[in-house]
Amino acid sequence: MSAALNSPLQNFSWSPEPAKWLNRFAQLSEYTQASWQTPLGVAWQGDALPSPKWVALNHGLAGELGWPVHWHLNESGDGPQTSALAVLTGNGVWPGMSPFTSVYSGHQFGVWAGQLGDGRALLLGEIDAPIGPQEIQLKGAGATPYSRRGDGRAVLRSSIREYLCSEAMHGLGIPTTRALSLVASPQPVRRETIETAAVVARVAPSFIRFGHFEHFAYSGEPGHADVLQALVDFVVTHHYPELADAPNRALALLDAVVARTAELMAHWQSVGFCHGVMNTDNMSILGLTIDYGPFGFLDGFDPNHICNHSDDRGRYAWNNQPQIGYWNLRALAQALLPLIPQAKDDEAKVVIDVLQTYEQRFPQAMRARWRAKLGLQTAHDADGQLALDLLQAMATGKADFTITFRRLCDYRTELPPEHEANAPVRDLFLDRAAFDAWAERYRDRLGAEGSVDAERAQRMRRVNPVYVLRNHMAELAIQRAQKGDYSEVQRLHQLLQRPFDEQPGAEADAGFPPDWAQAIEVSCSS
Ligand code: AMP
Ligand code: MG
Repeated sequence: MSAALNSPLQNFSWSPEPAKWLNRFAQLSEYTQASWQTPLGVAWQGDALPSPKWVALNHGLAGELGWPVHWHLNESGDGPQTSALAVLTGNGVWPGMSPFTSVYSGHQFGVWAGQLGDGRALLLGEIDAPIGPQEIQLKGAGATPYSRRGDGRAVLRSSIREYLCSEAMHGLGIPTTRALSLVASPQPVRRETIETAAVVARVAPSFIRFGHFEHFAYSGEPGHADVLQALVDFVVTHHYPELADAPNRALALLDAVVARTAELMAHWQSVGFCHGVMNTDNMSILGLTIDYGPFGFLDGFDPNHICNHSDDRGRYAWNNQPQIGYWNLRALAQALLPLIPQAKDDEAKVVIDVLQTYEQRFPQAMRARWRAKLGLQTAHDADGQLALDLLQAMATGKADFTITFRRLCDYRTELPPEHEANAPVRDLFLDRAAFDAWAERYRDRLGAEGSVDAERAQRMRRVNPVYVLRNHMAELAIQRAQKGDYSEVQRLHQLLQRPFDEQPGAEADAGFPPDWAQAIEVSCSS
């Protein structure tokens, strides 16, 4: 498979039409440079990587970009004939691209970290696509002015995790940056051990983070408040056009980002996704999941689960994520204050009012997710408690998060909980009595809305996945890829595109994690 991926097609050459490149973020930077001598970043190029090879290709996404079937197969050359492999490694550019690397700042683990920036990300350009304009960004294409002490590289291990998880999240219907391709090179990269380099090409309408706004709020650079306003205007014009006529765009943007972030947090919680590094520089202004590092999906349910080995205090534990989302929104609001003049007169009351909508929006979004996961079609006040009590029962004895909800789809309400037909789900609970008591309430709640088991099962199977990217699955794909066999990466990519459908041959992926999975440690090192 990898041989086929990497054999060029004779006499075939393709590159996107130069006129398709819009590059509006790079243009905004030229504008802020001309107006206030403060660019948003610098024009930049990748550092060449030797002997790149495709590890995985996302043909579905390439199709969404309007690219032809053989987009990845053109022979190497220069200029317009430059191969997609060279371009998506950072070894070449196509005409019309405007490679660029941007500056941002952020709060890391709750502490102001000052300037960070695209230390290993390179925005190749923004292309006009049938799905709307999309930016293509490489991760790991070499050092930039913002690399600080880093080498600008990403290792194969973490790049496989990012590639697969971006697409797994997309498959789950969760807003995320996408992954177009994954390239490996034999170039050594030093982490705890020597590993090898890889480059992921990521795709999103914008990679602007909360940290971009924080940077220009606090940088003290010439015209920084004007640059901040220009950034808000840019995001509103291109990504939230419905807010263009708002009396105060910064306030309207904050409101919209609060809403999207509340939805995103509810989405994450509902599939047991733990991001691992929810620093403000890893928060997307579009409410996308961004920057996959030491993420994890819950196996046995522990609400305090910490997926990032570097997070000693559990700041980013699963059950803290919604609160951290709120914390990060406060940091964004703080950064936008200079653009919201009412704030000065009225002790920032308008801003606080907008922020506080999170306190209704998140629980509301979360209740809606739990209801869907339980197959409920009407809304009752006690539904939140019903979900919490199930989680409580799961936590005792750590019932597997994904498997419990999936098996609950087939729970038969006309039979008693202890009936053997209900054993698959009931047996996941250490405290059977707690499950039985809960199941009776569940039956009554379903009965009250005239729920029909078979229909409920169908509904639930559309929101409770069979497959999530558990650490051990990524780990097996990584181990094989490190030996040059990319087939498992490609298999998982396929599998996770349809996480709600049982797929033949993937029984193990639907099962419990093996014992050795507990020993896997993922950290910020990537
Ligand atoms: P992260 O925790 O991966 O979101 O990264 C935090 C900051 O460190 C960002 O500014 C990254 O660009 C930068 N960074 C992380 N790893 C590297 C690296 N290997 N080389 C250069 N910069 C890096
Ligand atoms: Mg980051």
